[in-house]
Amino acid sequence: MKLYLFQCGTIKTFKHLLVKNAGIGQPCEVPVPFFLITHPDGNVLFDTGQPLAAASASQGQDGNYLPVMTPDDYVIAQLAQTGMHPSDITRIVISHRHADHAGGLEAFRDVICYLQKKELTYDDGQNFISQYPLRWQLLNGDHDIFGDGKIKIISTPGHTPGHQSLLVKLEKRGDILLTSDSVYTEEILEEGILPGVFFNQDDTVKTINMIKAMRRDGIRIITGHDPQAWGSFKLAPKFM
Ligand SMILES: [Zn+2]
Repeated sequence: MKLYLFQCGTIKTFKHLLVKNAGIGQPCEVPVPFFLITHPDGNVLFDTGQPLAAASASQGQDGNYLPVMTPDDYVIAQLAQTGMHPSDITRIVISHRHADHAGGLEAFRDVICYLQKKELTYDDGQNFISQYPLRWQLLNGDHDIFGDGKIKIISTPGHTPGHQSLLVKLEKRGDILLTSDSVYTEEILEEGILPGVFFNQDDTVKTINMIKAMRRDGIRIITGHDPQAWGSFKLAPKFM
């Protein structure tokens, strides 16, 4: 198995929206990661980055959330760095429905796509899934994708009602948890601070505590939108 890290541009936002009460009004620009895992039984994408429309300067957005990307950052162009085309992807795991994670779904057809059932419980969720011609698999909790323990979906609610993360077991590099937005940055994990934005505080705290325990158990954690930590990784076409 190989784990590839991709970046689909950035989002301009404010520090206090990432980390509660930190740098109020201080602008910051965060990466938009997504991931590919090649497994003998199929190629799995975890999140898909921003929609192609975010590459056009005419995108009117409020000051709290300004997508920044070029067509080269789009999921199709990023996958091409590894020689892959969207039709080579056999499964997609979407951490949650926000546009910087689900936006690239528009590039795929007829692929098995995993989402937690609870992710449909806010902001017109049914309408969301009906707009994509994908083979939706709605989950109630954790799920082992190929039944061999190598790529496991882990339920991590809080940021949204049905947020999920991905646990990948690499032969040489060991276990890696891709948290997506259940943990934005290292500060949240290391300094016990709440994220600046969440759907449910109790679930957010429970999820962060679970991920802290996973780190204590030796699992490597890759957080969702951390400019510092992300900068330390080698992106595709390099892989782990
Ligand atoms: Zn996000």
